[in-house]
Amino acid sequence: MQLAIIGGGIAGLAAAYELEKARAAGAPMSYTLFESQSRLGGTLSSEIVDGAVLERGPDSFISEKTAAAQLCRELGLGDDLLPSNDAARRTWIVVNNRLTALPDGLMFLVPTRLIPTATTRLFSVRTKLRMALELLHPPRPAAGDESVAALVERHFGAEAVDRLADPLLSGIYGGDAAQLSAQTVLPRLVEMERKHGSLTRGMLAAHRAMRAAAKVSSKGSNSGAVFTTLRGGMQQLVDALVARLDPESVRTSTAVSGLERAGEGWLIKTEQDVRAPGTAFDGVILATPAWAAGLLLNAVDRELGEELAAIPYSSSITVNLVYGEEQIGALPEGFGFLVPVSEGRATLACTFAHRKFLGRTPPGKAVLRAFLGGARRQALLEETDATLIATVRQELAAILGTRILGVAMEPEHAQVTRWRRAMAQYAVGHKERMERIRVRVSSLPGLRLAGNAYDGIGVPDCIRLGRQAARELAALRQETLDAGARGDAR
Ligand SMILES: Cc1cc2nc3c(=O)[nH]c(=O)nc-3n(C[C@H](O)[C@H](O)[C@H](O)COP(=O)(O)OP(=O)(O)OC[C@H]3O[C@@H](n4cnc5c(N)ncnc54)[C@H](O)[C@@H]3O)c2cc1C
Repeated sequence: MQLAIIGGGIAGLAAAYELEKARAAGAPMSYTLFESQSRLGGTLSSEIVDGAVLERGPDSFISEKTAAAQLCRELGLGDDLLPSNDAARRTWIVVNNRLTALPDGLMFLVPTRLIPTATTRLFSVRTKLRMALELLHPPRPAAGDESVAALVERHFGAEAVDRLADPLLSGIYGGDAAQLSAQTVLPRLVEMERKHGSLTRGMLAAHRAMRAAAKVSSKGSNSGAVFTTLRGGMQQLVDALVARLDPESVRTSTAVSGLERAGEGWLIKTEQDVRAPGTAFDGVILATPAWAAGLLLNAVDRELGEELAAIPYSSSITVNLVYGEEQIGALPEGFGFLVPVSEGRATLACTFAHRKFLGRTPPGKAVLRAFLGGARRQALLEETDATLIATVRQELAAILGTRILGVAMEPEHAQVTRWRRAMAQYAVGHKERMERIRVRVSSLPGLRLAGNAYDGIGVPDCIRLGRQAARELAALRQETLDAGARGDAR
């Protein structure tokens, strides 16, 4: 059996790793991984500059989702897993150009502790009153999907959207709370509303249940840190995966330009073989962004192609600035800050990377990682590196104030990375769209989709989906393919 993987980001690499394992274990199959770029890893990319790890894309993964740490352990990277420095964890939100701490007790956008919520400078008295009255919300029967902004506003008011939901979500999804689907992005909150009415009461109940469960079994839990990374950067994961693959099976700098059904199988055309008929495969894992998968599938199933192409994507930019700690001055404590759109800045967030993960930056150095762009500021992608660096320095200086005048100065090193249409946006109606996509994919034997557009935007979900797709296809025998094809024809 011959299988193809199109797209060598983390989802495609995880799929290839799984197929390589099956092949090494004697499964009668081979695979080919096609990647249009000269390097593998997609958005996972880091560089070490004078001993400092600079992440161009993701800097870590959420520890609660175990697929990424598990894969790292399988690859022999267990000793390099590094938890976030949660003892110093504190996040600031910029309000009227000043840093305001996120109040303690916030869980998934829901305030759960009375005193920190009552005393925070983040919200006006009116919003605080609204938060108190939220406890009286009656349960809401299941209704259609709505935006995250609509859900949060119904419970806590517009200010909570502007100062909490929007900056937190644009920091994670590069997205816009007014567009993102509550059902997909915050399913727990939707369920809590249905059951408890009040999100605060629902969250407190969930927290009590979690604490009780943690007491019963603390075995097998992770370090307890919110985030986990790799000592040498996320690139370590890419390198370890690539090292496991058969180099003969990997074709970099090879963009797939056409995909066709050929009898029971699939024909893949690349830009290199314009005149050749293409190569036949029994199964295909499409691990490109959904818009690229949509383009390729248009010729096979127009409706599926259109559904995939309709999944919106946002672009973003990361700017890493390396300074001497003395040069820069005393940064506020914590991991960094988020900037609400209403502040009118290009910078959406800034991480103090040397604080978030200890030991990845040489002593005496500070790495400030700014995140720009997002769904509302796509035009920034066209600015030059010099303009983007100057903008970030000027905005950081304005936000951090006189204590940190050093940021206005020339950094020791600056690195800009643009990620065009890299982050899928789970827009209102995403769940229904996914149902339609699943139905159509299941009518195409030997086809699987993997990547950040479907069932989780983060690295662990992409790994889970990539591996799952590979396992499913590897298990697919010729008879199954035939049976599927007969079902297709019915
Ligand atoms: C700036 C940024 C920060 C992030 N931070 C985090 C974080 O801290 N934690 C976290 O968990 N997640 C984070 N994410 C999200 C996460 O990194 C991505 O969702 C994930 O890496 C996507 O992996 P993927 O394999 O689905 O897609 P991609 O990485 O986009 O890979 C798809 C690959 O397909 C290739 N391709 C496209 N078309 C073709 C074609 N026609 N033929 C061949 N190849 C093709 C592309 O070149 C690319 O290499 C971040 C994302 C970004 C952009």
